[in-house]
Amino acid sequence: MKIGALKESFAGEARVAITPASAGHLGKLGHEVLLESGAGVRAGFSDEDYRKAGVTICTTAAELVGAVDVLAKVRQPTPAEMGQMRSGQTLISFLYPAQNPELLAQAQGQGITAIAMDMVPRISRAQKMDALSSMANIAGYRSVIEAANNFGRFFTGQVTAAGKVPPAKVLVVGAGVAGLAAIGTSVSLGAQVYAFDVRPEVAEQIESMGAEFVYLEFDEPTQDGAATGGYAAPSSPEFREKQLARFRELAPQMDIVITTALIPGRDAPKLWTADMVEMMKPGSVIVDLAAEKGGNCDLTIPDERHVTENGVVIVGYTDFPSRMGAQASELYGNNIRHFIADLTPGKDGVINHNMEDDVIRGATVVHDHDITWPPPPPKIA
Ligand code: NAD
Repeated sequence: MKIGALKESFAGEARVAITPASAGHLGKLGHEVLLESGAGVRAGFSDEDYRKAGVTICTTAAELVGAVDVLAKVRQPTPAEMGQMRSGQTLISFLYPAQNPELLAQAQGQGITAIAMDMVPRISRAQKMDALSSMANIAGYRSVIEAANNFGRFFTGQVTAAGKVPPAKVLVVGAGVAGLAAIGTSVSLGAQVYAFDVRPEVAEQIESMGAEFVYLEFDEPTQDGAATGGYAAPSSPEFREKQLARFRELAPQMDIVITTALIPGRDAPKLWTADMVEMMKPGSVIVDLAAEKGGNCDLTIPDERHVTENGVVIVGYTDFPSRMGAQASELYGNNIRHFIADLTPGKDGVINHNMEDDVIRGATVVHDHDITWPPPPPKIA
């Protein structure tokens, strides 16, 4: 089959869905790889790099879309990009089907098979294709780099002839994939790290990374905020009050707050309130990784960095993986080529879209003129 990647049209997007390395792997599966000229440049890959990996370069997007059987993208296509596709083609991309019913209807109407990388089931076998995790890992790492860049002090404590410097205190709220990456990065920079999550099972992971789990005290065992599938559920009012009270105690002591708390299918819970920001020291930094979902902090402005009247820097960027375009493309390119490997069981360049396979079924949102989202729950954990 012919598999190709477009230059991403979303403003500022630096990632590309196929790298020279992943193109090599796709070639070994018997596929022919194509690329729109210049698609890899912002991720650090020239057309020449791709040519050396056996990739055919197309001058225009229309030429590429016209030539391929499978179109790989990072960002969901615009209606116009999708409009260039034809019946029988397959699209692999982040698609967020719950938020994009029109896109699904368009794919259905045009007879396109659509695979949403954000819908790959989070089961062990599919970890290598889990693009949500690979991008969250990068976002978590980058949030700390961004915080350090905005913080006028060291992360690590030091004793030198010029004076004694205490380590920075970092609080990470939400210890999923991004939060754990932020914890690991902060610890490795030498900060004193605290972390909170509504799922108590992450306490052990947090402590094993050298951070301190922030416990809430209850008279009786209570709701722990864990829902099915390892995700969080909205907290009870009592739990939320305890959580906010604990955060108010911590706010004046923390130098850096990184928030990553999300609940699937909902706006981000507001956990870092305006009065907590007011209690923080001038020069402190908040990085809100939930900005795209409205933010965990009351004062976050999505896509912006701003400084409050009391001198707290709040970073609400929503494009952290793209800010590390080379790394993100490498990992996303791997996620995509592993998915295509599952679609090519014979390693003979022939795609077998097996809807009996849990992973392929879970990620396929449009197939055979049908909208196939939401999928049935996976059979294997
Ligand atoms: P996510 O991005 O949906 O949420 C981030 C974190 O925010 C979660 O840890 C959640 O518990 C936490 N959170 C929600 N509300 C909160 C609140 N009020 N206060 C504090 N924290 C709050 O999560 P994610 O990173 O996508 O991962 C969610 C789960 O899925 C984790 O258990 C993770 O280990 C699991 N997972 C499994 C696999 C796999 O098995 N292949 C892959 C990836 C993730």
